[in-house]
Amino acid sequence: MHKRWTHGSSPRVRKMPPVFRFAPSPNGYLHLGHALSALLNFQMARASGGRFLLRIEDIDATRCRPEYESAIYEDLAWLGIAWEQPVRRQSEHFDVYAQALRTLGSLLYPSFESRGEIARLVAEREGQGSWPRDPDGAPLYPGMARSLPEAERAKRIASGEPYALRLDMGRALAQAGPLAWHETGAGPGGETGTVVARPEAWGDAVLARKDIPTSYHLAVVVDDALQGVTHVVRGRDLFWSTSLHRLLQTLLALPEPVYLHHRLILDSAGRKLSKSTRATALRDLRESGQKPSDIKRLIGLD
Ligand code: GLU
Repeated sequence: MHKRWTHGSSPRVRKMPPVFRFAPSPNGYLHLGHALSALLNFQMARASGGRFLLRIEDIDATRCRPEYESAIYEDLAWLGIAWEQPVRRQSEHFDVYAQALRTLGSLLYPSFESRGEIARLVAEREGQGSWPRDPDGAPLYPGMARSLPEAERAKRIASGEPYALRLDMGRALAQAGPLAWHETGAGPGGETGTVVARPEAWGDAVLARKDIPTSYHLAVVVDDALQGVTHVVRGRDLFWSTSLHRLLQTLLALPEPVYLHHRLILDSAGRKLSKSTRATALRDLRESGQKPSDIKRLIGLD
């Protein structure tokens, strides 16, 4: 019998340190909300003897720019945050996401509609009554591509027609069974502790876009697992994304991190900050003479 490594008092047995990450997209300058997320992750890693990783979520080449990526490094260093090298850049790992798509296999189907066609189908459905929306406010997929005959799919793919890959939610749910996650922060309705996942709220979600061979949801789940992330600490706006992330983790047999969704920083009108509001951009605040200690005070972290 082999001695088990996880138990006992052998000096060689070491508890793995917790792993935290901050995962911004370089599609604009970081603002006060990002400062809160990055500082919380960094402080929690420090306080627990854990590791802190930075990941650049740059799958969307049309929206991401190198100057925003350099600004992320500058702004975080200015806040006093240090991260491990190398930094993972998602745009360098499309092969890994392609592998995950192959693992999902027949739970995915190609969907050929254009944005315009989908908008028209949604308008038709809405004309007949209300049509459900996902937690981000986008209408659920109204199309019928799930039931296209295999021969037609093959013909359209062979002719070079572009397509997105969607998750067949009904079959995915049947395969995964009931799901939950452990929330140590809180959701928009105060949800905490064991939260029941509701991936069906996303409908047949796109996991690989027409123009990008992956999606936020797929890449984040694959990378968190590959990087050994044990604690996902991020804004409450992503709370219900976790339902879909738990489903993908289960289908791909990936480990389940602990989640903490933190409060959002709102503007004076009570809206979530956006990358286009320069007033709360860290670099503008810095240029106007604010210090890192002022930023911490502004976001309630001093
Ligand atoms: N890249 C995402 C964003 O900038 C965050 C992803 C995550 O923390 O899961 O909103």
